[in-house]
Amino acid sequence: TIRPLLAGNWKMNGTRASLDQIKAIGDGVKTPLSDKIDTLLCPPATLLYVATALCDDSPLAIGAQDCHQQVSGPHTGDISAEMIADCFGTHVIVGHSERRRNHAESDMLVRAKAHAAHEAGLTAIICLGETAYEHNSGQTLDVLKRELASSVPDDSTAESTVIAYEPVWAIGSGLIPTRENIEEAHGFIRSELVERFGNGGAGMRILYGGSVSGANARDLLDIPNVNGLLVGGQSLKAVDFLAIYAAF
Ligand code: 13P
Repeated sequence: TIRPLLAGNWKMNGTRASLDQIKAIGDGVKTPLSDKIDTLLCPPATLLYVATALCDDSPLAIGAQDCHQQVSGPHTGDISAEMIADCFGTHVIVGHSERRRNHAESDMLVRAKAHAAHEAGLTAIICLGETAYEHNSGQTLDVLKRELASSVPDDSTAESTVIAYEPVWAIGSGLIPTRENIEEAHGFIRSELVERFGNGGAGMRILYGGSVSGANARDLLDIPNVNGLLVGGQSLKAVDFLAIYAAF
């Protein structure tokens, strides 16, 4: 069986004033449930180093939201996977739809970033998902097939790689695909991963993301091949994130 993962993505939210929430989440996951599931929080890079120090006695892992594909060099404003590892981060989200859209990130760039994460010893959380237009025109599985083939590097293993299915139209909208839609998408992702990576693909975690809350988490986790959740808005406050944790 696959060990589930609950991950929070703070996006461009959080200042030093939010450190008490990170601490509260770190403390809140010190329960027996953490023997069975992994937990991760990805604050903005400005808080990464302090967050890992705050949570060093907690099972809560700390990760980043993006990395550059190279180790170092003349890339003003960018952060490398090595730098994230240096701050004791263990995971990095790559290919989030907000970066694909706002920074014109291509599948090939996302693949290079995931590879860089692997080289630095980080687990890459590779995000994929269709837009509203693609959803409404029945292209979801075609999009997932293309994004999986192009964004996931060949060196991916069940340990080094997590896939996050985030329908773009479900992010921050309060809209969630039907259970049948999610089951179909996750089942399709699983079959593609197994075909390409064999046992590694069978063990890779596939997270659902998009308008996850304490109210819908339990139902989402009951869907086959949903091996965890990637949470945006409801990860900002400890009370909300811990309600999702309690649903596992
Ligand atoms: P919301 O949970 O706010 O919809 O965001 C989901 C997301 O994009 C997580 O990466």
